[in-house]
Amino acid sequence: MKGSVQLLDISKRYGTSLAVDNVSLNIESGSYCCLLGPSGCGKSTTLRMIAGHESVSTGVVSLSDRNVTNLSPRQRGTAMMFQNYALFPHMSCIENAAYGLKVSGVAKSDRLKRAEDMLALVDMHAHLHKLPAHLSGGQQQRVALARALICKPDVILLDEPLSALDPFLRIKMRKELKRLQRQLGLTFIHVTHSQEEAFALADLAVVMKDGKIEQQGTPKSIFEKPASAFVADFIGGHNVIDPTDIAIDASSPFSVRSDHIRITSISNATTENTVHLSAEIVDVEFQAQFYFVEAEISNGQRCMCFIPEDDLDPTLISSGSSVQLNWRIDDMNTLSHTQ
Ligand code: ADP
Ligand code: MG
Repeated sequence: MKGSVQLLDISKRYGTSLAVDNVSLNIESGSYCCLLGPSGCGKSTTLRMIAGHESVSTGVVSLSDRNVTNLSPRQRGTAMMFQNYALFPHMSCIENAAYGLKVSGVAKSDRLKRAEDMLALVDMHAHLHKLPAHLSGGQQQRVALARALICKPDVILLDEPLSALDPFLRIKMRKELKRLQRQLGLTFIHVTHSQEEAFALADLAVVMKDGKIEQQGTPKSIFEKPASAFVADFIGGHNVIDPTDIAIDASSPFSVRSDHIRITSISNATTENTVHLSAEIVDVEFQAQFYFVEAEISNGQRCMCFIPEDDLDPTLISSGSSVQLNWRIDDMNTLSHTQ
């Protein structure tokens, strides 16, 4: 289908190192996909292989059900938006936005009209004749987006598009990206190292590590069931616990969400289907709507617990106090691998 993306066993080798290692991925037409992972895990290389700015060492890239592996970027129906926007400094907004049409030989009056429409779409209608140097970061980004959209690509590729913006603008622009994606019905593939950004945007989130896909799914499914200790740690909000030397009926490491742990006073009573562990409070951090409580269990591992503001009993939960951590057995998530 137009706008669908299929990667079949793609790899990229630089000398002796594998930047991307046998990645297979299906992205549905019209969906918002985020490639997520720490620096160096192969996100940008994967994106560049989809765009055709980088050749694959092995594997097949299909776009809109067409094998594009050996096609040039311009033959693929993709458009790329770079981290630094790469606007031409000597061209006005409208000239920047019209650039792709100029290269394709579209007549001047026609391309300027279409560039104006595209700039209106990204809310830059008031700045048509300004140079990039006279625009804010958010405005430059809008122009870069208009420039990427103007050739009506089937797939938009964005490499860390929000990372140059301040936190407030980053949230505003990510909402705009999502709005545009929905409005235009295009496939977006967005590279980010921010779990928060990926979770806010993605229909399909793909977590990468060392050139491989570690887990993919909806943000909710990944948060509810991280597949590995790496994913649990990377997305945050989870504790990875090794059951060695603690009274827990588990044979391998598991994860438990920080907001699924309750802290009570030590009690001998047991509640059905619940794990009880004695612990010592190490630190209590105020985080406005909740407290971030760090507690050490008997084998020396530390657990992070989110305690809603109203549930924190200061006589019980303060540094050095002995407490009991409690979570439901159902809330323990088995990890398929430990690293
Ligand atoms: P990410 O975007 O996830 O930070 P990259 O895809 O840029 O990661 O890089 C993945 C790995 O490939 C890194 O180890 C990086 O150093 C290496 N790499 C990327 N581009 C090149 C290149 N042109 N030549 C050699 N190594 C590269
Ligand atoms: Mg990168």
